[in-house]
Amino acid sequence: MTMNRVARLVKRPAPGLVTPECFEIADEAVPEPGDGEFRVRAEYVSLDPAMRGWINEGKSYVPPVSLGEVMRAFSAGTVEASRHPDFKEGDQVVGLFGVQTHAISDGTRVQKVDPEIAPLQSWIGGLGMPGLTAYFGLLRVGAAKEGDTVVVSAASGAVGSLVGQIAKLKGCRAVGIAGGPEKCRALIEEDGFDAAVDYKAGDLGAQLDAACPNGIDVDFENVGGDILDAILPRMNPFGRIAVCGLISAYTATSLPPGPKNIRFVLTMRLKMQGFIVFDFAEDNATALADLGQWVKAGKLRLREDVREGGVDAFVDTLNLLYTGGNFGKLSLKV
Ligand code: NDP
Repeated sequence: MTMNRVARLVKRPAPGLVTPECFEIADEAVPEPGDGEFRVRAEYVSLDPAMRGWINEGKSYVPPVSLGEVMRAFSAGTVEASRHPDFKEGDQVVGLFGVQTHAISDGTRVQKVDPEIAPLQSWIGGLGMPGLTAYFGLLRVGAAKEGDTVVVSAASGAVGSLVGQIAKLKGCRAVGIAGGPEKCRALIEEDGFDAAVDYKAGDLGAQLDAACPNGIDVDFENVGGDILDAILPRMNPFGRIAVCGLISAYTATSLPPGPKNIRFVLTMRLKMQGFIVFDFAEDNATALADLGQWVKAGKLRLREDVREGGVDAFVDTLNLLYTGGNFGKLSLKV
């Protein structure tokens, strides 16, 4: 008999990587849709760095996942039973369906996807939340314009790779920071960045100086910590820092030191703004039209890292994000 394989949060994690005992993974009965609902057979569960924050208690932009609740996640799948007027069997959809194989939805914030533009898994990646994050963060928060030098950290990942490619489409100089020679090679040879900086190779400041001879106008900050500290003194007057993520701190076991070079925010009159992709939700359709067009025209390359192992592999696969084990948009085939 078909069962719903599901991961429920049962314990809050200690600081550090996520540990398996935080989740109970079990088979449950496949739920039946009620009136106005449909059931999705999930195929790809999106693994996102924010998940580490979602399972912590405390103030944030969304309430934490409750103990006993199905782990929150975006996923992409196919409608397999429907009592909803707008969704029919066979529709391919993306939504917050959780870490499970079968989910019930009433259609709230569910998006139908067009497989003609890109395959299903791309709609949780370049044409989903990470794509929208890159687009709004770079163009709205970072206000990148032609001629700017844009630096992005975690550059080989889901968001970062798109930031660099969109920066190039807009006539900017794109510089990516990533860990290791293979990721740095791919940034230049496959994604078209102008320069790449390997933060694991040492002397980040000298590498940034070489990669950004005219200084930095926009920092798309995905990492924080030492990387942000190396970028701050190299920012040009009136530069913008779009704070998208601070992944170096997500699994830290002690409070990281504050930015040492914060004085450059003052002396260079920088604008530093955090943002959450949902802040721009009313403009998602415009952004998706642009992103979809670029993908279809072959102007935007989507690097995807799809892992096998199903729901049972959730914790181990998620931790790849915090150790640099992924290369591109990470998702789990379920
Ligand atoms: P990625 O695909 O970029 O994967 C994470 C990458 O981060 C790793 O591959 C690793 O690359 C790098 N990384 C991890 N730890 C460190 C560290 N200590 N120092 C330097 N680099 C590190 O993930 P996403 O593209 O999904 O997310 C990127 C960032 O964007 C995250 O900070 C995330 O929280 C943020 N984000 C924010 C959103 C918002 O609305 N504000 C929405 C979506 C994402 P490497 O091998 O190069 O070290």
